[in-house]
Amino acid sequence: MRLPEPVIIPRDQHPISRKQISRAALNVLYGLHDAGFEAFLVGGCLRDLLTGIQPKDFDVVTNATPEEIERTFRRARIIGRRFRLVHVRFGPEVIEVATFRALGEADESDDDRRHSHDGQILRDNVYGSIEEDALRRDFTVNALYYNIADFALYDFAGSMDDIKARRLRLMGDPATRYREDPVRMIRAVRFAAKLDFDIDPATEAPLYELAPLMGQVPPARLFDEMLKLFLSGQAQDTLKLLQEYGLFDALFPATAEVMTDSDQRLLEAAMRNTDRRLAQDKPVTPAFLFAVLLWPALRARQAMHLDNGMAPAVALNKAAGQVIAEQVSQIAIPRRFSSVVREIWDLQPRLPRRHGNRAGQLVTHPRFRAAYDFLLLREEAGEIAPGVGQWWTDYQEADEDAREDMVRALGKAAPSSGGEGSGRKRRRRRRRGGGGSGGAG
Ligand code: ATP
Ligand code: MG
Repeated sequence: MRLPEPVIIPRDQHPISRKQISRAALNVLYGLHDAGFEAFLVGGCLRDLLTGIQPKDFDVVTNATPEEIERTFRRARIIGRRFRLVHVRFGPEVIEVATFRALGEADESDDDRRHSHDGQILRDNVYGSIEEDALRRDFTVNALYYNIADFALYDFAGSMDDIKARRLRLMGDPATRYREDPVRMIRAVRFAAKLDFDIDPATEAPLYELAPLMGQVPPARLFDEMLKLFLSGQAQDTLKLLQEYGLFDALFPATAEVMTDSDQRLLEAAMRNTDRRLAQDKPVTPAFLFAVLLWPALRARQAMHLDNGMAPAVALNKAAGQVIAEQVSQIAIPRRFSSVVREIWDLQPRLPRRHGNRAGQLVTHPRFRAAYDFLLLREEAGEIAPGVGQWWTDYQEADEDAREDMVRALGKAAPSSGGEGSGRKRRRRRRRGGGGSGGAG
């Protein structure tokens, strides 16, 4: 493989200044430099700075080995199994430092680089040069380097042009790179949504066909990527793109199979809601997201059990267990979240039942607020008739006396109005065939 020559952009020809780089990152860069190593910032932080976004973190790469990095700093720790990295701590900040990695031709005899039969990389811990390190990065916009020795940018792949054009282009041959690591497909969607970049046609084309490869990614890895996907602040666009490319089907097969129009509206409303909450710095729990994303599958499964004569509560409980069990073979959901998912679901049929002292008890349930938010979304989506949500909104704002009046007033209306129901017309979501440029974004 021919190694790329970098285009070196000197300090006076690019806008990145040391003032924009965190103190801790500068300490690490200078620490390595003073110890005689090469040290560069790389990846997302440079892309973000050049796009006018405040980077979440600064990643450093060096020609020092993990052991050498560890010896250079007082508070450093080697971590990672898939990739060995060093975490260097300065105050509250942790800087991730990696050794340049190579990714050449697969070599059967090389114990440190293993490919599975379908071309996926299982482990890659072969140290290399900066040129090799650049080649194994995912997108050109993530393959730019900032040298602390002379403050120059090193551009191996037209990264600067792509950042300026707001264009996501995979390094190398797109289909090969997706096969090596299918997670790159959802990273393409994540960056397109988060940065409002376009996916270059050659990088976009294989997505439709290769989306099912997502099914082969270890579930544990997908949970983290999932959170990054939906908590980027651009969950709405993300959902649209995932569905357009068929990635949603691969990530949430049980839901994708049964999606109705109201389910689609529910998911969209939930994503809009998530983006709004993040924009307001309000907390967002992954459990709520999973409760939404798996709700269509849950309803379908519950309906099946009901058809078989099971009691509603039993059917819900059984369906919940099954839907979660199936989903975790795709995306690992830590138990601390899946138990909350089940509580949110479990409360749905209980929220309309407000007689006697039930309302007073429900409102103190630790998941009441999440379940209530969820109910509002279902009403907004038209899955159930509106009414109960507004009642609960009023109830939470009412004082003790007014609350008693509200519960008493219920007695006159039909008991437990607005429960489960409305027709469950289903349509199979149409699948996209190959080709065709999607107009999402
Ligand atoms: P973010 O701002 O969302 O953290 P990022 O670009 O920093 O974006 P990370 O997941 O933190 O993304 O990864 C850091 C860098 O590591 C990327 O910029 C990219 O160069 C490289 N990288 C990450 N994941 C992959 C992958 N699956 N294949 C190839 N390179 C990757
Ligand atoms: Mg990052």
